[in-house]
Amino acid sequence: MPYLLLRGLSHSVTACILLFLTACAEAPAQPLVAAPVTPSAASTSSAASVASSPTPLLSFDEWRILLRSDAIAAGIDAELFDRTFAGITLDPNVIKADSSQPEFTRPVWDYIDGAVSVSRIAQGRLLKAQHRSTLKAIRSAYAVDHEVLIAIWGLESNYGSNIGSNNVIRALATLAYDGRRQVFWRSQLLAALQILQAGDGPVQGLIGSWAGAMGQTQFMPTTFNQHAVDFDGDGRRDLWASTPDALASAAHYLQASGWENGQPWGFEVNLPQGFDYALADPEVRRSLAQWRALGINPVRAIDANEQSLATLFLPAGHRGPAFLLLNNFRSILKYNNSTAYALAIGLLSDALDGNPGVQAAWPRNDRQLGRSERIELQELLTSKGYEPGPADGIIGANTRKAVRAFQQSLGQPADGYPSHELLQQLR
Ligand code: CA
Repeated sequence: MPYLLLRGLSHSVTACILLFLTACAEAPAQPLVAAPVTPSAASTSSAASVASSPTPLLSFDEWRILLRSDAIAAGIDAELFDRTFAGITLDPNVIKADSSQPEFTRPVWDYIDGAVSVSRIAQGRLLKAQHRSTLKAIRSAYAVDHEVLIAIWGLESNYGSNIGSNNVIRALATLAYDGRRQVFWRSQLLAALQILQAGDGPVQGLIGSWAGAMGQTQFMPTTFNQHAVDFDGDGRRDLWASTPDALASAAHYLQASGWENGQPWGFEVNLPQGFDYALADPEVRRSLAQWRALGINPVRAIDANEQSLATLFLPAGHRGPAFLLLNNFRSILKYNNSTAYALAIGLLSDALDGNPGVQAAWPRNDRQLGRSERIELQELLTSKGYEPGPADGIIGANTRKAVRAFQQSLGQPADGYPSHELLQQLR
């Protein structure tokens, strides 16, 4: 699945690496927009309970011996552990992927273009029709709409055609021994062993992304153990070969994340002249009626409860399209904590339902800041008395706030978007 690699985030990462991540099948989007990435369908609930390994002090063999004790204490069969770890070595490609900090990331519009392409929409419509009876049964069981499931399937694995080829045990062992967030990876590794012990994995072993995301919906092992279901009734939760199991598992996860069946994820809006862009802040939640009173209107007719709470989202700053985001958008973020990813899922769902794409133009001529420029931006903001947080090149809430305050001091639209022009002004 998707993920990005932002250090210190609560979830983790995966196959497509960029600054932030996204679905395995696609490259991620850009950092401003996207919240850091996480492994898709990742769950972190059990991470804190596992002690972190003193890796640098131990060889991989010594570390594995300690892991074996922990695994057996956690109920893993010793014979299964030994068979699974026979011949397992560190994977240098996984280390490389985990430590990658690319200078440039894709602008959000490039990411959306690839994620919601004409061919992906066309294929998704065919598959939605082909799996109609399964989707109806899934909706009856979990109250999740057809389109979002097809969209997740499409972005996570290009409809099952790209499920990764890494040995998940080897990848997770490498990350747990030598990765940046060893506690998290160790919990994923133990969860993967539990999946094997339950007999749910393919006979050839667990395969997936370099970050351990598995199957057609790219579930991390802990998510698999919490939310994967056997929907085709063969007795195994098979997210690799069974599309009904994969789609139903995604539905089960979305249901647990608060999905509201029949409600939109959000929708594109037009903003009035002279709008206060500082309201485009994830912390500013208002009802649709309140947004409407401010002169904000959907670009097409939308059926949604006027009392629903929404936030205003400007993925490319005030020069690009604007969206109101509802609760279902937050459910998608629990699947993969990247706003670019969630926006792509929403737009692909709309397209599968026959709706038009984004109406406003993206600012395609804007030059994106590279990582070193984002760090410079944060350093300059700090030197001028703003508080963007640590200069790590990651544009999070604190950096956006500092950008907004600087924009307000200049009398500019306070959209919190770190443009190249803004960096020049700071210099
Ligand atoms: Ca099954």
